[in-house]
Amino acid sequence: MNQVCVAKFGGTSVANYQAMCNCAKIVTNNPNTKLVVLSASAGVTNLLVELASGSLDQASIEQRMEKLCAIENSILDDLGRPEAITAEIEKLLHEIRELANHAIIEHDDALTDRIVSFGEIMSTKLFTEVLNSLGYKAKWFDVRTVMRTDSHFGKAAPIIEVIANGAKEQLAPLLDDYIVVTQGFIGSNAIGQTTTLGRGGSDYSAALLGEAIPGCAAIEIWTDVPGIYTTDPRLVPEAHAIPEITFSEAAEMATFGAKVLHPATIFPAVRKNIPVFVGSSKEPEKGGTWVRKETNSKPTFRAVALRKNQILLTLQSPNMIGACGFLANIFSIFAKYGISVDLITTSEVSVALTIDYTGSQSNGKSVLSEQLLQELKSFCRVRIDEGLSLVALIGNGMSQVSGTGAAVFSSICDVNIRMICYGASTHNLCFLVNEDQAPKAIAQLHHKLLEGNPTSIK
Ligand code: ADP
Ligand code: ASP
Ligand code: MG
Repeated sequence: MNQVCVAKFGGTSVANYQAMCNCAKIVTNNPNTKLVVLSASAGVTNLLVELASGSLDQASIEQRMEKLCAIENSILDDLGRPEAITAEIEKLLHEIRELANHAIIEHDDALTDRIVSFGEIMSTKLFTEVLNSLGYKAKWFDVRTVMRTDSHFGKAAPIIEVIANGAKEQLAPLLDDYIVVTQGFIGSNAIGQTTTLGRGGSDYSAALLGEAIPGCAAIEIWTDVPGIYTTDPRLVPEAHAIPEITFSEAAEMATFGAKVLHPATIFPAVRKNIPVFVGSSKEPEKGGTWVRKETNSKPTFRAVALRKNQILLTLQSPNMIGACGFLANIFSIFAKYGISVDLITTSEVSVALTIDYTGSQSNGKSVLSEQLLQELKSFCRVRIDEGLSLVALIGNGMSQVSGTGAAVFSSICDVNIRMICYGASTHNLCFLVNEDQAPKAIAQLHHKLLEGNPTSIK
């Protein structure tokens, strides 16, 4: 097989039977699309996270189960309730109910991952049936046989070499004869327990599989918007799709909150130099965005992104003055708890840094545990500020031209800026603002720097 294309469809794209038929058309229109990666149907993962929490009473479990059954049954109904798949989905729903009841008694992160994985299992079973019922040769594949991860339940890290070997031996041979349908988001550890890659992780799964299968020519991310926009079109209606963008810019956008791509998606694509396409499964004719190593245009200001739910930690200690190793100690504590620090600034006796409230873990819990705080407090005074948002301006060569700061900050002169990070990369300028001022900051930056005749700089 020479050219293989991996197509990933997100939750809204597989929300119901009609949406699945749109996806089927996209898949079958391109004979190179041999591997399909799916999210759970829209709303399903949220319901499963609640069912896995262990904190619901019986009535609340039943209420969530009813909603879940309604989503799955409506697809089955439109398929004409074929016997075998109907029995399979019913069995899976029954298992979810049992596990949710078990979570009330005994709850842990491994069980949460096991429960939330059912969303992708069910959507892929149903979509395989959709393709087969339309006369195509489709095969359901349990991605856990190849998607090896560590055991960090809720946000597991993939083990690239193991995935590459598994995909070559067990997945690639199937692509000669079938359209293979498999799950995003989920994986398994060395002893076969189900893990998840973190919320929104199906994009990452598609990129990892694209990297792992020999001859992958493109990774397509089909979602509910026709491409990567200059900002979230839900926030700013004037936002427009970007026809092409570099890997570096797309990675910065995803990292700083453009939900259209999971932040890790670009890394596997970069490693193998595989172009990534983002388009709308509902309106494929509108085209989309190509993410590539190089693009013709390299504007100073490309896009603006928003990441909500940020925590600002200010760590203060007189021992910092002229001391070596203070930051090393602090960061070793964050590393021990698997927490990624985003922005950082320092002064003579204090360090301010930001972290993401959930770190995008699948279980939705705060990453700031009491033990972590106790360890930090043994070194320094700790102040915690919540209710903050990170605003990131993404572009090219921003720190290499005069006037970037003036152009950016004069656009938002009535916004209170809590922290600024600039200069580590030529691709971004980030700052922290109170949550309630974030939409205004995004709209003003977009208006001044990305619409019509944007403010130009030299
Ligand atoms: P899926 O379920 O297909 O993975 P997501 O909801 O995760 O879809 O991502 C798509 C959403 O990302 C869009 O509906 C849009 O609101 C949001 N989004 C945020 N930033 C951007 C952006 N810069 N361009 C396009 N969409 C964005
Ligand atoms: N279903 C998972 C979630 O909702 C993964 C994904 O959609 O990418 O987070
Ligand atoms: Mg997504």
